[in-house]
Amino acid sequence: MKELQPTAKTPIVGRFAPSPSGGLHLGNILCAMLAFLSARSRGGKILLRVEDLDTARCADTSRIQQMLDDLSWFGFEWDGGEHPNTFQSRRGEIYDRYFEQLKAQGLLYPCYCTRAALHAASAPHGALPVYNGHCRQMKERGELPPPGRAPAYRLTVPDEIITVEDHLQGTYRQHLAKECGDFILRRADGLTAYQLAVVVDDGLSGVTEVVRGRDLLTSTPRQVYLCRLLGFSPPEYYHIPLLLREDGTRLAKRDGAIDVATLRTRFSSPEPLIGLLAFHVGLLSKPEPISLLELLPLFDWKKVPKTDILLQKSGIL
Ligand code: GLU
Ligand code: ZN
Repeated sequence: MKELQPTAKTPIVGRFAPSPSGGLHLGNILCAMLAFLSARSRGGKILLRVEDLDTARCADTSRIQQMLDDLSWFGFEWDGGEHPNTFQSRRGEIYDRYFEQLKAQGLLYPCYCTRAALHAASAPHGALPVYNGHCRQMKERGELPPPGRAPAYRLTVPDEIITVEDHLQGTYRQHLAKECGDFILRRADGLTAYQLAVVVDDGLSGVTEVVRGRDLLTSTPRQVYLCRLLGFSPPEYYHIPLLLREDGTRLAKRDGAIDVATLRTRFSSPEPLIGLLAFHVGLLSKPEPISLLELLPLFDWKKVPKTDILLQKSGIL
């Protein structure tokens, strides 16, 4: 007789991970909205993580406060409130631990290349600048490190194609050695690189799904590979379309029509803006005011387009 196994379904944990290096614009709000709706409409949790890793660029704490405030104005609530993983700037020691683990495994090497050298050596075409591995064999070549210069550290990548099954963009493949090359996990100034921090944070907070802009799809194979090295199971990925201006260019912060801080001076409530975004991603048939909570029952990934969206300003903006 077949034994009935209890189906242990992993609860969904999503996250929104903005960098406070600039203010929020409507494209960020769209990302937060889809991450929130995806997790909460299926009974999951949604976490906030502030990617203020680059403390020099994020030194202005009032900007972080403004960002948190803008998000609550839209009606976002985050599970766990300020949980231990919220601020990347406070987690340096944790990243160091994982960094040291990879270093002890012999997977990292110091890179002394200057920005100019990297720029000159990288192929002019292609989506990513590919690192040519110049510093990997320094010892073998008998080269000495340049005096007085602190190195960055790179992870040696395998000669392997990493496949990502993205729920919106479909199958994405990247040959790590040929299309990316060994990549930086710690910068020359000692800061942990985004790729390592994001994998450690998502892994330790039990994130099961990542919803973010399509422009980060090319980073995903590196992150999937890091998950494997660090023993985390990779999350599900949803790389969402970018919101573009009517002329097809990327949204720029200085554009008052999309900058959240400016919009808040013009709208007394977030509902018309949420409705506008929901309309643009197929959740509403017309742009009408609605709250995040009212959108929950209308959410379905099947409605969301995968190609970039032109923001029609003609209406309320
Ligand atoms: N902090 C990144 C950004 O604001 C997003 C990182 C991620 O979602 O993995 O572009
Ligand atoms: Zn180098």
